[in-house]
Amino acid sequence: MPRAMTRRSAADLVAAGLVPAEALTELERVAARYAVSLTPDLGELIDAADRHDPIARQFVPDPAELDHQAEESIDPIGDDANSPVEGIVHRYPDRVLLKLAYVCAVYCRFCFRREMVGPGRRPSLSGPALAAALGYIRDHKEIWEVILTGGDPLILSARRMGEVMGALALVDHVKVVRIHTRVPIAAPALITPALVRALKAFGKATYVVLHANHPRELTSAAGTACARLVDAGIPMLSQSVLLRGVNDDPATLETLMRALVGCRIKPYYLHHGDLAPGTSHLRTTIAQGQALIRTLHGRVSGLCQPAYVLDIPGGHGKSPIGPSYIRAVPAGPGGQGFEIEDFKGGRHIYPPRAAGA
Ligand code: SF4
Repeated sequence: MPRAMTRRSAADLVAAGLVPAEALTELERVAARYAVSLTPDLGELIDAADRHDPIARQFVPDPAELDHQAEESIDPIGDDANSPVEGIVHRYPDRVLLKLAYVCAVYCRFCFRREMVGPGRRPSLSGPALAAALGYIRDHKEIWEVILTGGDPLILSARRMGEVMGALALVDHVKVVRIHTRVPIAAPALITPALVRALKAFGKATYVVLHANHPRELTSAAGTACARLVDAGIPMLSQSVLLRGVNDDPATLETLMRALVGCRIKPYYLHHGDLAPGTSHLRTTIAQGQALIRTLHGRVSGLCQPAYVLDIPGGHGKSPIGPSYIRAVPAGPGGQGFEIEDFKGGRHIYPPRAAGA
């Protein structure tokens, strides 16, 4: 049987039986506002009979996306306010984002850059714009790490990625190149040996950060694509977004984190949902996120524990927002100790430093 094509419209999704025909008109309005793409690899994971399927929830448009809340913003983490030249976001002193293209293999319904990515949105970096962005990196000696993001950099050809990595290899003060991607899951066949070779920049450490939100995304094809990267000496980390109805329960998060570690991918970030327009139906509260992290702390190895973080709205950067396991308590006359919570919820006193020690 021929393999399904990538679905790029509401009509494609109706034809595939993923949404009912009576929803077509409304979903066409959503698709006119926010890009749609569902690759065969992810489409095959959807159980069309399950109205709450966690894969469909991430990629199949929902009429709720047209409900915008007052607190939502078209640039929720302030990329544009921190962009000194086209394609660069310089938010933290020692690192920059380099956005090569604003297209992706799939379009996630909760994407914090949903106003920027997709066909007909922002153009990919032209040759002169890329030269200017690389010039900015060369001129700023404090830049230790370059993070390739977008859009998804790994939908670019091996030749183009090789050119960019080659240019970064020539910048002495850049020591680390980090690539954020959904491609090993969305289109694992794109992780070819030629692309993997192109990701290595001479003298630099390349890291690949995989975006994965549900354990079903880690198919054997995705595992093979990731193994190709790791076996080539490229360490992998993961980032996940906490999403209502997708992974906001302890068992799903635990299975996801264990599966990632089993693929030799260290869980790095669990993002609280950003205030992107039309995504409130997918966001949890921070209190729910903290409770989930506390549960994970009690159930899984430290290897499986990501940092729960929030990109502070307005471009102020990420901060950890996980639960605290420590609080200051009075100890002895005028002294201060700490009460620490263990992984079972028990509380223990850590004593103050002895006078004169
Ligand atoms: S792959 Fe990343 S940039 Fe692209 S739509 Fe998904 S979250 Fe947004």
